[in-house]
Amino acid sequence: MASTCPHYVRKCSFVTPCCNKVYSCRFCHNAAERTHELDRKTVQQIKCNQCGKLQGIVSHCSECGIKFGFYFCPICRLYDDRDKGQFHCDYCGVCRIGGRENYFHCTRCDMCFPKNIRSSHTCVEKSSRSNCPICMEDLHSSPVPCQVLRCGHLLHRTCFQECLKSRLQHCPLCSTLMI
Ligand SMILES: [Zn+2]
Ligand SMILES: [Zn+2]
Ligand SMILES: [Zn+2]
Ligand SMILES: [Zn+2]
Ligand SMILES: [Zn+2]
Ligand SMILES: [Zn+2]
Ligand SMILES: [Zn+2]
Ligand SMILES: [Zn+2]
Repeated sequence: MASTCPHYVRKCSFVTPCCNKVYSCRFCHNAAERTHELDRKTVQQIKCNQCGKLQGIVSHCSECGIKFGFYFCPICRLYDDRDKGQFHCDYCGVCRIGGRENYFHCTRCDMCFPKNIRSSHTCVEKSSRSNCPICMEDLHSSPVPCQVLRCGHLLHRTCFQECLKSRLQHCPLCSTLMI
């Protein structure tokens, strides 16, 4: 019954209202279902991995008392036993990682960035509301932090590292040198 997933360490699973099944996380759901994606905010019930009790969105199991995750965000329905410095950004409307004290929210880019680039980054209006030009996946809701290029365009940090490895030095969107 205890289902594990490669994405999060947590002691509960989601009852997904879209298909009425039980999944460890939204990424597991999306990989298995293929026809539709899970909107986390529609999840109203979770299942304890230890005792199987079905219950609402809570931090501890009402039956066996187990703590479902070291980090718990009731808004995002996020449980994670690994401490990655998770924090919920009210402006982004999602949880970010890396420690609230190390990040600020840029209202123009509409994204949380490390504080050390607060005054130095180039703002691009709503830049986070587009897809990563490398993998074409959503930037704003991604659990992978963003890298801001010199031009202000964004990509996933992991995609950025891939670019450097393959010696790509120019922004795929505007051809400015990346760093
Ligand atoms: Zn579903
Ligand atoms: Zn998963
Ligand atoms: Zn339980
Ligand atoms: Zn959150
Ligand atoms: Zn933010
Ligand atoms: Zn900005
Ligand atoms: Zn990417
Ligand atoms: Zn660019």
